Amino acid sequence: MAGFLDARPRVGYFYSGKTANQLLKEHIYTLLVKDYQSRPVVVQENSSVYDAICTMFLEDVGTLIVSDKHSYLSGIISRKDLLKAAMGNQDLQAIPVSVVMTRMPNIVTCEADDPLYQAAYMMIRHQIDALPVVRQVDQENMRYEILGRITKTTITKAFVELGENNSV
Ligand code: ADP
Repeated sequence: MAGFLDARPRVGYFYSGKTANQLLKEHIYTLLVKDYQSRPVVVQENSSVYDAICTMFLEDVGTLIVSDKHSYLSGIISRKDLLKAAMGNQDLQAIPVSVVMTRMPNIVTCEADDPLYQAAYMMIRHQIDALPVVRQVDQENMRYEILGRITKTTITKAFVELGENNSV
C-alpha cells in the first residue's frame, strides 16, 4: 500500500502513520546522482573561448566543465561567462577559457552517491545551472576526477519521472 500500511508478524497490517508528503520525501531521497548524471562535457583550460562557444553549440549544453592538463577539475563556464567575454572587442581565439571560467576551489560539486535532492538544493542555493559530479582523488591538493554532470534539466527529467511513477 505504498508505505501507508506496515506489516508485523502476529500483529498484521497497521497504519504506518506516515503522511503522503513524508512518503514522497522518503522516496525522493532514494534517487541518487549516479542514476541520473549525464556525460560531462569537458574542455581543457588552454582551449580558447571561441572553441568553448563551438563546443557549447555542438554538444547542446549550457555549461562546460574545464579540466587541467591531468584531466582533473579546474573550472566551470556558463553561457553568460562566454557572453561576457564576447562583449569586449577581443580576439576570442586568443583568450583561454581559464581567464573567463569560475575556478577551483569555488566550484560547487556533487558526488555519485549523493541524493539527487541535495544536488538540486545546491543549484538553487548557489543560483547555478549545473554541478560537476566528481570523485576526490587527492584531498590535500584538491584534485577531483570528473565523472559526470547534473543540470537543472536532469532534475526536471527526474521530476517528470516521479509524476509518471505510480508506485510513489
Ligand atoms: P548563466 O551564467 O549562464 O546564467 P549559471 O547560473 O550556471 O549560468 O552560472 C552563473 C555563474 O556561476 C557563472 O559565472 C558560472 O561560471 C558560475 N557557476 C556555474 N556553475 C557553477 C558551479 N557548479 N560552481 C560554481 N560556480 C558555478
